[in-house]
Amino acid sequence: MTDPVSERLFEAARRVLPGGVSSPVRAFRAVGGTPVFVRQGQGAWLWGADGRRYVDYVLSWGPLVLGHAHPAVLAAVVEAAARGTSFGAPTEAETRFAERIAEALPSVEMVRFVSSGTEAVMGALRLARGVTGRPLVAKCIGAYHGGADYLLVKAGSGAATLGEPDSAGVPAELASTTRLLRHNDLEAAERLFAEEGERLAAVVVEPVAGNMGCVPPEPRWLEGLRELTRRHGTLLVFDEVMTGFRVAWGGAQVLYDIEPDLTCLGKVVGGGMPLAAYAGPARWMERVAPSGPVYQAGTLSGNPVAVAAGMATLEQLRPGADGDPYALLEEKGAWLQQRLEEAARAASVPATVQRVGSMLTVFFREGPVRNFEDASASDGRAFAAFHRALLERGVYWPPSPFEAAFLSLAHDDCALQRTAEALPAAFEAAARASG
Ligand code: PLP
Repeated sequence: MTDPVSERLFEAARRVLPGGVSSPVRAFRAVGGTPVFVRQGQGAWLWGADGRRYVDYVLSWGPLVLGHAHPAVLAAVVEAAARGTSFGAPTEAETRFAERIAEALPSVEMVRFVSSGTEAVMGALRLARGVTGRPLVAKCIGAYHGGADYLLVKAGSGAATLGEPDSAGVPAELASTTRLLRHNDLEAAERLFAEEGERLAAVVVEPVAGNMGCVPPEPRWLEGLRELTRRHGTLLVFDEVMTGFRVAWGGAQVLYDIEPDLTCLGKVVGGGMPLAAYAGPARWMERVAPSGPVYQAGTLSGNPVAVAAGMATLEQLRPGADGDPYALLEEKGAWLQQRLEEAARAASVPATVQRVGSMLTVFFREGPVRNFEDASASDGRAFAAFHRALLERGVYWPPSPFEAAFLSLAHDDCALQRTAEALPAAFEAAARASG
């Protein structure tokens, strides 16, 4: 599909922005074609620069669980901004917001606000190294935890491999402080702990992986990591930047009933504004400056406009007397999963839909997909054709086979029906491109 307006805008953008974008995956490199330049969003819908309307399953890569421009969030943002956009001084709203987060997450007593998920993970891992005095952190192959140097480490082979940098500009010395685990592979984790457990400050894990597509935890994976880390004095850090307040009130740790030592939040908790957090019990969080020796700071941290957006979002999500928004999200997710599976079957294309609540991925291969290796064996050409066909039919799906799609509470019958109507042709296109 050619969208001449976006093409013209993309050409201009490429002259002043590397690759024409402010973050790489937005450039549509995995699916080809020109990215849709966005004019506006409302509810479940997005308008491209040429005026075309799309059902949005990207939702700013996860934050917009209420949909675009939710009236309560807008009102809170406008009201906060009118009182001043940034103070660099404490506000009462930050305390109330931290109280609300601690209320929802049993593992959390104290919260440090930052501006991005990247910063949240960096802060949590510095804290883990600070309190344990140990040098190493372990992450899963294919997991994304933001742009910190030592976390940009590519998939190695098999279990515990020494990290190698995944980006130019990352010194090998920094990458060598990272250990790699295969996601959902508890035996590999046991081997790593047997070899290097006493040097591991932290294991950081997405409790539901979202950056190799949506990969739920296998039975015993999270429990096993909890036991191993506890036994070795290593901190278990849940990166809930994507899953926090997305898969359940609180996050995946509530859904699976596991208490990590530290939690990273972002996306939903910022209500579409630049806000994230790391959090945990007071005995760890009191070690953060200025209470303790682990330094971390930010000019815009706890920004009042972002706090207002986050607080207003959580207000809408809190299960209460008039219902549980997460039950509604589950219903919408299950409905969409069923339509996707039916359409894939009808087109006879190998596909597996994996979903936790309102985050889901269509992998173009037989399932289950348990780790990055499995995800990488999906058919990229089928996905690109699927994506293109959906876009042509007014459905804006994440432009990468390794990204989760998200639903919002604003995905009403009209938006869902429009999506369902586009699916048969999209899977037929995938089937033609497949192989
Ligand atoms: N952690 C996870 C699980 C993420 O999905 C992301 C972003 O997609 C990050 C961390 C980094 O967050 P940010 O892009 O806000 O820096």
